[in-house]
Amino acid sequence: MNPALGVAIIAVAAGRGSRLGGDIPKQYRKIAGKPLLARTLESLSRATPAIILPVIHEDDTELYRLSVVGLQDNPKLMAPAYGGATRQASVRLGLEALLARKAAPKIVLIHDAARLFVSGDLVANAIAGAEAYGAAIPGLPLSDTIKEIDENGIVISTAERERLRSVQTPQAFDFKLIFEAHRHAASKGVTDLPDDAAVAEFAGHRVHIFPGESANVKITTSEDLKVAEETLMRELTDVRTGQGYDVHAFEPGDHIWLGGVRIPHRQGLKGHSDADVLSHAITDALLGAIADGDIGSHFPPSDPQWRGAPSRIFLEAAAAGISARGGAIAHIDATIVCERPKIGPHRDAIRASLADILGIDIGRLALKATTSEGLGFTGREEGIASLAIATVRLPV
Ligand code: MG
Repeated sequence: MNPALGVAIIAVAAGRGSRLGGDIPKQYRKIAGKPLLARTLESLSRATPAIILPVIHEDDTELYRLSVVGLQDNPKLMAPAYGGATRQASVRLGLEALLARKAAPKIVLIHDAARLFVSGDLVANAIAGAEAYGAAIPGLPLSDTIKEIDENGIVISTAERERLRSVQTPQAFDFKLIFEAHRHAASKGVTDLPDDAAVAEFAGHRVHIFPGESANVKITTSEDLKVAEETLMRELTDVRTGQGYDVHAFEPGDHIWLGGVRIPHRQGLKGHSDADVLSHAITDALLGAIADGDIGSHFPPSDPQWRGAPSRIFLEAAAAGISARGGAIAHIDATIVCERPKIGPHRDAIRASLADILGIDIGRLALKATTSEGLGFTGREEGIASLAIATVRLPV
């Protein structure tokens, strides 16, 4: 079948929970500088010409918009639909949305947003399985023995391992079959089945298992996130470095900004934006690594819209430029040169702020500070200087 004609994919991304910590749902957490959901949508888009309908939580509309900035011109990506209170309800609403938008396909694939390594082979096998059997899901044999236990932790039974499969997504179905199965389950008041195969089973359908892929992991824990980032990094073999340098003079004031952190001080820093000298040096280092001009060429001081602007805008734009090239920030090493304020007490807060703005692990961001022993303009406390080196990995 030509997937462009008869296949649609629902990408389920409406969950609220996050075992990863942080205050945003895990599908919007960044992996190597790009949100997990955006990476999954890109993988799906590479895997198949089928249309893709993301199902998101209504509260995440703005988060979603920001996450898919690089994907907006992709004609396969439909505007998102809003999900419901459970995963099952979200998928049903996604199916309803396809119908309402006159985009009901012959075959629908339902995929978890947290599985970013979905491959073209897996998608093709899912489509072929649904064509042959009406309902087909990827499954892997287990290596561990599985025990059923009671509430006291006592083993009730030992499952026959050869007959067990650990199942993944995408799960693929004849559209009419799964749509009616979802409506059936909802009409019976069954609302929290763990996957769509269970919805089909509940309606009495036979579900076929085809081989899953061990690389098709679901990102659930912080460790999963770290391993996935390392996997992505390994594929980016063109390593570039860039340097940045910036100076701002002191002026009367009571605080300065460094790396997006407000630090009380007996003076302020003079500048067109918020004069965050550290963020400016890092922005230039990042732009240097991808040979994309400098901060002044992207954000001219002559442009009044940058007056007083928070410098995170510049950092985010540089990071987005790297992301748009399919690359990732591997490391940043920065130095602040000043007599005062003392940077040490603020070092980790500044690192955390920069890591958050750039969407990288804090372990990839080093910050150092030095005085200039009373020499020169920094020694006379006329201003602050900052230097940075960025290492960026790009696809070849
Ligand atoms: Mg500057």
